[in-house]
Amino acid sequence: MSLFGEVPQATPVAVFKLSNDFKEDANPKKVNLGVGAYRTDEGQPWVLPVVKKVEKIIVADNSLNHEYLAILGLPEFRSSASKIALGEDSPAIQENRVGAVQCLGGTGALKMGAEFLRRWYNGNDNTKTPVYVSAPTWENHNAVFANAGFEDIRPYKYWDAEKRGLDLDGLLGDLESAPKHSIFVLHACAHNPTGTDPTHVEWMQVAEVMKRRKLFVFFDSAYQGFASGCLDKDAWAVRYFVTQGFEMFCAQSFSKNFGLYNERVGNLTIVARDSDNLKRVLSQMEKIVRVTWSNPPSQGARLVAITLNTPELFAEWKDNVKTMADRVLLMRASLQAKLQALETPGTWNHITQQIGMFSFTGLNPKQVEYMIKERSIYLMASGRINMCGLTTKNIDYVAESIHDTVVNV
Ligand code: PLP
Repeated sequence: MSLFGEVPQATPVAVFKLSNDFKEDANPKKVNLGVGAYRTDEGQPWVLPVVKKVEKIIVADNSLNHEYLAILGLPEFRSSASKIALGEDSPAIQENRVGAVQCLGGTGALKMGAEFLRRWYNGNDNTKTPVYVSAPTWENHNAVFANAGFEDIRPYKYWDAEKRGLDLDGLLGDLESAPKHSIFVLHACAHNPTGTDPTHVEWMQVAEVMKRRKLFVFFDSAYQGFASGCLDKDAWAVRYFVTQGFEMFCAQSFSKNFGLYNERVGNLTIVARDSDNLKRVLSQMEKIVRVTWSNPPSQGARLVAITLNTPELFAEWKDNVKTMADRVLLMRASLQAKLQALETPGTWNHITQQIGMFSFTGLNPKQVEYMIKERSIYLMASGRINMCGLTTKNIDYVAESIHDTVVNV
């Protein structure tokens, strides 16, 4: 009898299972709209031209080596990453109350933030402190916080399926009734999976309640640049909350906007009341990192730091981000136009109203199953599609398939 004889088989991670099923599908017309990664109009991954350039700079730089980084990461990465979240001229940065932890992707930043909060936030045992995540949300939010020891993870109202938009009243109601000091995970922009963000006025309403009710703001910023094509516009909510005096966390991922999916480059930006609080927070963060990955990897952090700290490269990166965002916009407009031309039952305006990498189509689980089985078009059971999976070559087939599905299922 093996010592592992009692280990139950875990269920596969849905999005990666979908990609595997896609790989094994022999249909030449197959389309993968599942995984959240950018694809070119040829359906290929894109190494950003600015990244290629900086990779060469790194290889040619004889002063670089492969020694351990500091536990909290590369200083020039941490500070420049926080700057793009909070803004070049952020008063909080000037007041020396912003710090950061280089993390393994956005997931790592969420994990480090969660581990810290459970241990230290507002006292020192937060096992019972409620953590609120949007309904629906990126499925890993629940698991990351549960895994850090939080026992009370709750959904907050966000998506109004009927209206195919934000349930503002529901959201504000849940904020009002949450116990004081509850933790709220907010998507900074390009909400995954709904592609629906609050407007500026709605964000102001959210901030007002959160401040009054003393709720903790934990932004998840995985798509900065993807919502509007502009980094500053996409950081509006985060920067607004800073102006309102919140102490908060912001988990940043550079997987999507730098195309650095496997380098695992992320940053946890911490905004504290003052530099003394910040210093103590960072000292505890160091302890948590030490027992988790000990020291972070350098390649992705160097690529991002060199890009953000060199004006010409920074400008080029912004251009590259805009190229990706513009292609998504084009695919949105095109898919909506095609569905309307086909007179597919239902309304399809939400495709262009939604922003970021994803569209929440409104297809139900049965329709999704039909799309996969009968049309070899792979999408998440929630009806979420990755707009980057669409190309000028496959969009007619996808539109016809959605039409066929909506009419028949
Ligand atoms: N947060 C959200 C909302 C995401 O969609 C993702 C990735 O899909 C992440 C965080 C994690 O990003 P990373 O791959 O950098 O860990």
